[in-house]
Amino acid sequence: MSIGELDREHVAVSEIFKSYQGEGLNAGKPAVFVRLALCNLYCSWCDTKYSWLTPDRARVLGLKEYYYSMDKARFQIYSPIELYKIVTSISGARHLVLTGGEPLIWRYRLVEFLSRLKSDGWFIEVETNGTIPPDPIDVYIDLFNVSPKLSNSGVPYRYRIVENALRRFVELAVMGRAIFKFVVSSHSDLDEIRELIRIYRIPKNRILLMSECRDRVECLERDRYTVEFSRKLGVGFTRRHHILDGYK
Ligand code: SF4
Repeated sequence: MSIGELDREHVAVSEIFKSYQGEGLNAGKPAVFVRLALCNLYCSWCDTKYSWLTPDRARVLGLKEYYYSMDKARFQIYSPIELYKIVTSISGARHLVLTGGEPLIWRYRLVEFLSRLKSDGWFIEVETNGTIPPDPIDVYIDLFNVSPKLSNSGVPYRYRIVENALRRFVELAVMGRAIFKFVVSSHSDLDEIRELIRIYRIPKNRILLMSECRDRVECLERDRYTVEFSRKLGVGFTRRHHILDGYK
C-alpha cells in the first residue's frame, strides 16, 4: 500500500528506533522513537525532511533543490495493532517519543495504539509544532513538547501560529503536561518569543530555548549565545544532546 492509498486506519511511518531522548525535560532517558510521516509545515532548517519531503510536496512547495536531489521518500504503512506489536517488541524502554514530521496529523488513527501503550504503563511524549489541537489523544499523553516555529523557519505566520491549537497547549503547559521549546538562531528571535509569551500567556517556567544547529561544533558555539538569551528572557535552556553526544 502506498501513502496515497491509505485507508482510514493505517498510519505512514518514516522510522522506528530505540535511542535516548535528546532534548528537553527527559533528555538522556532511553526511549522508543516512532517518527510518523508528513508535516503540515516546511521549515527551511528542518533536519528530518526525509520524513515529509516527498517529490510531490517538493514540487508543490517549489523546493527544487530537494526535488531534484531527493530519493523518493519511503514509508512503512502500519495498522495500530501492527505498530503496537513492533513498539512493544523493542526491549529496554517503556517510554515512547512520538515524533515526525508532525505526528498530530495522524491523531485520530493513533487512539488505539496509544491507549494500549498507556494501559501497559508506558510514558508517552509527543513532539509537535503546535499547530494542530491534540484531542482526542491528549488523554494518553504525559508530555507534549511544543515547538512553535518562528520567522527563522521561513514559514508564513498564518501557517505556523494557529491560535486555538496554541491556546490548548498553553492550558496543558499550565497543568504541567506540555513544555514549549523555541529554536533560536539569532538575537532577533527574542522579540518574537516575547510577543508569543505575551499574547498567549505561555508560562515562562514551561519554556526552553534550543539552538538551531546541525553539528557538534556549531551547537557548542551557538549554545553559548542561547544560554545568554534564556537568561534575558527568564526561561530555560536545553542542549541538543543527540548531536553533541553523537546518538540518533
Ligand atoms: S514542523 Fe518540524 S518536522 Fe515539520 S518542517 Fe518544521 S522542523 Fe520539520
